[in-house]
Amino acid sequence: MRVLVVEDDPGIGGGIMAALRNAGHAADLFTTLSAAWTALNVESFDVMLLDLGLPDGDGLELLTRLRRQPAPAPEATTGAQPDMPVLIMTARDGVSDRIAGLDSGADDYIVKPFDADEMLARLRAMTRRAAGRSRPEIEYGALRIDPAARQVLRDGQPVALGAKEFALLMALMQERPRVMSKARLESALYGFGDALESNAIEVHVHHLRRKLGDGLIRTVRGVGYFIPEEPA
Ligand code: CA
Repeated sequence: MRVLVVEDDPGIGGGIMAALRNAGHAADLFTTLSAAWTALNVESFDVMLLDLGLPDGDGLELLTRLRRQPAPAPEATTGAQPDMPVLIMTARDGVSDRIAGLDSGADDYIVKPFDADEMLARLRAMTRRAAGRSRPEIEYGALRIDPAARQVLRDGQPVALGAKEFALLMALMQERPRVMSKARLESALYGFGDALESNAIEVHVHHLRRKLGDGLIRTVRGVGYFIPEEPA
């Protein structure tokens, strides 16, 4: 998943970015409300991790603005998604912040200092709910996917997937049966600073088909890729 991190403390921000990347996610860090707002409007993120005390204002201002935003067109690959899951980061004594955050449209909160594994688990739970799926594991035909362990079984046998292959599989699974364009997939898998080959998505799809079977990921020529709602 592609995560937008808004945090002005360099130590906390750096720790969050390292944890997200280690877990195979694409992540971008911004330290001000204005930079984060710009990023939200030119890229597409799956989830936002939002600090409240920022140099140019309160994170809740950004959250409120986002929630009031009209939704971009369904085929748009960029643009602030008003219903994107948002996890706010609050201080231990910030009960009023947490209440205000949830009432402003945050989906969940996490209290600083927090454990990276807890943060990752909360992000997984939020994106799962946002995709309308409450069960953590995904069963699809002969595949069994465990997002927490980042493990895929095919007919009970573990399949070794690269971090980007796993991220691509999860993106298409969560969105199924919608078609995702190459641009949308690139934006889901790579942050602004990440090196990206022009055929990266095709290569990942090729590897996934080889490892998981040809019938899983379908191509819509000139448009993108999708996984059918139900396995063939
Ligand atoms: Ca701060």
